[in-house]
Amino acid sequence: MKEKGECSGEALEAMMDSAGISGPLKKMFRDCVAFHTFPAPGLLIGVFMVDYALELLGADSEDKLYSVSETPKCAPDPLQVILHCTSGNHRLRILPIGKFAITVNRGSAGPFTDGVRIFVDPVKVKNFPLIHLWFTNDPAFKPGSMTIPLIGEIFKTGRQILSSEHVQVEIIPKQKWQSSVCTSCREMVPDYLLKDGVCGSCGSSSYYRRN
Ligand SMILES: [Zn+2]
Repeated sequence: MKEKGECSGEALEAMMDSAGISGPLKKMFRDCVAFHTFPAPGLLIGVFMVDYALELLGADSEDKLYSVSETPKCAPDPLQVILHCTSGNHRLRILPIGKFAITVNRGSAGPFTDGVRIFVDPVKVKNFPLIHLWFTNDPAFKPGSMTIPLIGEIFKTGRQILSSEHVQVEIIPKQKWQSSVCTSCREMVPDYLLKDGVCGSCGSSSYYRRN
C-alpha cells in the first residue's frame, strides 16, 4: 500500500536523472532501495557515503572490506548491499553512537589498519535547508509534503554535506570459545556469553516468554 509521501520508482528515476546521477551509482541506489523496501532519506545519503568511501580507499565493491556504522538507522543497509559487509559475515559492526557516519577499511594482520570515515558534516549540512530540517529532526519538517522534495535535494546535493577523514581502525581479534550449557534452559551457548552460568535469554537479554 502506498503511504502518504511515498516516492514511486518512476519518481525516483526522474529525480536521479534530473540530478545527473551516473549509471553505476543509479544501480547502487536501486539495489539499496529494493533491499530497504523504500527510499528512506538516510539510506540515500548512505549510498553517497559508501560510494565516497570506495573512491577514497581506491577499492571496488567486490573487494573484501570491513565497515562500521555509527548508527543502526539506514546507514548499515548500503554497507550490506554494496560492500557485502554483513553482521553475519563479521564485516559489519553497528555501534549505537547515534552519528550518521561510517568507516570502511581493508583487513589487516596488525592491530590497526587504515580506514576512511565519512560523516554528515554539521557545518556543510546547514547549506541545504530541507536536509538540515530533516537531519536535525526539526518539528518544522513535515514528512507528508516534504519527503519527496527532500529526496530530490539529497540527490542534487550528493557528497556536498559529507566530510571524510583517514583513521586507524582497531582490529578486534577473534575470540576463542568453547561450547557451554546454560544452567537454566539447558541450551548451548559460547562460554564467554554465560553470566553466572545462565545465557542471555535467561538473564539480562530476556525478550520472550513461553506460552
Ligand atoms: Zn538459558
